[in-house]
Amino acid sequence: MGHGRRYEEDDEDMSEVLGLKEKLGRNVFKHIEHPHIVIKEGKANDPRLRAAVYVCPAGLYSVNEAGEVELTIDGCLECGTCRLACGPELLEWNYPVGGTGVQFRFG
Ligand code: SF4
Repeated sequence: MGHGRRYEEDDEDMSEVLGLKEKLGRNVFKHIEHPHIVIKEGKANDPRLRAAVYVCPAGLYSVNEAGEVELTIDGCLECGTCRLACGPELLEWNYPVGGTGVQFRFG
């Protein structure tokens, strides 16, 4: 009985996650020539940078075979979470120049 209720709650959680992904998929991204977030030189294998892999809501950070963190900037939501998680010592972070970056589309 108790379990049945739990599953229902889990199902609701899952549908909310899928709903978010669908909504994110509606956003429009204009290609960014000069990335507004850059991993600072020599910091790609800094273990503190791994935090960005876990916190980026768009999943733009990944770890390559050499154990270095890579960033794919297209799809960035400009939320600033990676900057908060890793700090200016590891990331150079600016808002994109006008006309590029994310255009949010709600509903
Ligand atoms: S600003 Fe947000 S979406 Fe963009 S790379 Fe950082 S955490 Fe990811």
